[in-house]
Amino acid sequence: MRETLMMACVADFSGRLRGKGIPVSGRHERFGKGLGWTPTNIQITCFDTISDSPFGSFGDVVMKPDAETEIDVDLGDAVPREHLVLSDIHQGDGTVWPFCIRSACKAALADLEAEAGLTLFSTFEHEFMFKSEADAGFAYSLRGFRKRKAFGELFVDALVQAGMKPDTFLREYGDRQFEITVDPEAGIRSADQAVLLRELAHACADTMGEEVTFTPLSAPDGIGNGVHIHLSFRDREGRPATYDPAMPANMTAKAGAFVAGILKYLNEFVAIAAPSAISYRRLTPHRWSAAYNNLGDRDREAAVRICSLSAQTEEGKAKQFNVEFRPTDAAASPYFAIAALVRAGLQGIREGLSVPEPTREDLSLLSAEALAGRGIARLPESLGEALDNLAASETVRGWFPPGLIDVYVAHKRGELASLEGKTEDEIFAAYARAY
Ligand code: GLU
Ligand code: MG
Repeated sequence: MRETLMMACVADFSGRLRGKGIPVSGRHERFGKGLGWTPTNIQITCFDTISDSPFGSFGDVVMKPDAETEIDVDLGDAVPREHLVLSDIHQGDGTVWPFCIRSACKAALADLEAEAGLTLFSTFEHEFMFKSEADAGFAYSLRGFRKRKAFGELFVDALVQAGMKPDTFLREYGDRQFEITVDPEAGIRSADQAVLLRELAHACADTMGEEVTFTPLSAPDGIGNGVHIHLSFRDREGRPATYDPAMPANMTAKAGAFVAGILKYLNEFVAIAAPSAISYRRLTPHRWSAAYNNLGDRDREAAVRICSLSAQTEEGKAKQFNVEFRPTDAAASPYFAIAALVRAGLQGIREGLSVPEPTREDLSLLSAEALAGRGIARLPESLGEALDNLAASETVRGWFPPGLIDVYVAHKRGELASLEGKTEDEIFAAYARAY
């Protein structure tokens, strides 16, 4: 048998995978031992610049592959298999490295289970675009779908091989834009899926001589590529724990408090969920993304949307009921995004918040005073503003190991600095290439 290679990867602050290739035959031994990694790698931005790092050239950490995340996907005879494993980052003594965001996400999920008795089920709904020639005029159409059906079939088969359950693949509204959804999963598995799904989309496109991008916005006047995170809960007995038709907004008290926590702290943590310079060009009114920290009843411009139900029985509704977090995009690390959502939600539960009244109108038509009277605020309008909010938030700082937020803010400020002097077109092109 010829030796083959696989890659042991860590998902960085930008949600992308970096790591090292290893021979497949020795992988089990290697998973046990781990692989050396450099602390400052966490400051490599999506453009490969290195932001200010407190670690400098010092120190060593260990990538610790999680064998349960190994995928080995056959993309056809013409190309090598997509074989990789996701890893946590440990310190030399075997303890978790405080700056490992997959571990921070697991810790948040574990605290939610321990304190609130809730297991989070989630799924990431992704929009992305082909980079090839324009095909505007075919939104949701059979012709648009047919044109990319070969890609779609390669992609959904790759997702199945990777252990996911694809739900829909569709020609979205924007020029060359598609959307892929997969079934929800419990805990960390959902964030793992999101990381893998993005990489598999790129792998499938490469295989076909195509290029895709998950960039938050393709052009200033273009259509956004949103990532919408659907959230629901199960209790300790495995029963649905999100829906209660007797409660405001049809949410259980805990689910309502969780959503209230997300909205209360959104302006402080949105730099984690929408972390690129162009993310805030997407988060403006009338782009069907989100522009305010509101709960919306079936409103596709709300920060958190109550999704509609097709089930007819109360039991069916309880299983199906979920809310969707919309102000995020593929520049975000799925681990960091879920960690922030869970920490904000848990904070809401701890504070005993009640669920906000869902909005039912176009908030951009209301004055700032009218909005403030209802406890609603405009989201930050730039990454710089969002980072200032994050840096100033003692609450968000307290959700993570000491220093993590400061390192992240430095990472993102470095990313912004690397864009200084570039034209708008160059900035959009840089993100389209990075994602
Ligand atoms: N493209 C929109 C976004 O940027 C989402 C459209 C939809 O609701 O699917 O979030
Ligand atoms: Mg969509």
